[in-house]
Amino acid sequence: MESLINYFESIPTLHRSVLLVGGITLFWLLEGALPLFKFKYKKWKHAWPNLFFTLTTVIVNFTLAFLLLKTADWVTLNNFGIINWLPEMPLWLYAMLGVLLLDFMGAYVAHYVEHKVEPLWRIHLVHHSDHNVDTTTANRHHPLESVIRFAFTLSGVFIIGTPIAIVFLYQSLSLVATQFTHANIKMPKTVDKILSYVFISPDMHKVHHHYKLPYTDSNYGNIFSIWDRLFGTYMERDREQIVYGIDTFPNAAGNASLKYLLKQPFQKYRLPVSDYKVPVRSKS
Ligand SMILES: [Zn+2]
Repeated sequence: MESLINYFESIPTLHRSVLLVGGITLFWLLEGALPLFKFKYKKWKHAWPNLFFTLTTVIVNFTLAFLLLKTADWVTLNNFGIINWLPEMPLWLYAMLGVLLLDFMGAYVAHYVEHKVEPLWRIHLVHHSDHNVDTTTANRHHPLESVIRFAFTLSGVFIIGTPIAIVFLYQSLSLVATQFTHANIKMPKTVDKILSYVFISPDMHKVHHHYKLPYTDSNYGNIFSIWDRLFGTYMERDREQIVYGIDTFPNAAGNASLKYLLKQPFQKYRLPVSDYKVPVRSKS
């Protein structure tokens, strides 16, 4: 455990990049072998805006990383934050609790707020306007959203009191988790269900990408499903009945255009459309 913590304390940027690219590659290949839906799309063409947003997310996080480092060092030095005020505990428990609470602050709370506060929702809906959810959708975040999410993670580090090793461990797990839950892969329903008692499973997160309420406002979690179950935001919907996209922005061509997506948060608020076009696809 100690060597794992030591590794993450100074995880090389190269290793983090390998995790990002390796994760996308792995799930991309699995999508070919075990697809949930057979999308009628050109995979690279669809991936392009999503990969662009993945790159901007990396740039935002890389540029602001020094703030995480400074905050994590400060809380460690001053013994500040929830996990440092708790009684002495084994290192594995300390790390687990740190990751669990960071998943709450940096993902669940951030995501919940993005759905409930209108200006933030307008920014976040870029993530929801993908009509073909796959592993590249994982980091389809408008650059402004990357900043918002960073701010939540940063306050999480401060309140929870996590040392930098746990922050990097959390970020690595969080990255793989989001690539996995967005991947267009079909796991046996029972396996997906069992997994969803502890972790966010692919089927569970796909419910969140259904094009209309109340499903859009459910299953906010990223790594652990405990937060949705605890706060009553857990929902189920049969995978066959899920339709991706968002009812207020039904324009599929626009939602695939980088230029359109960059401007999407600045468009006027719209009401949902009743004749949302269900994309043509066949179940695999
Ligand atoms: Zn969302």
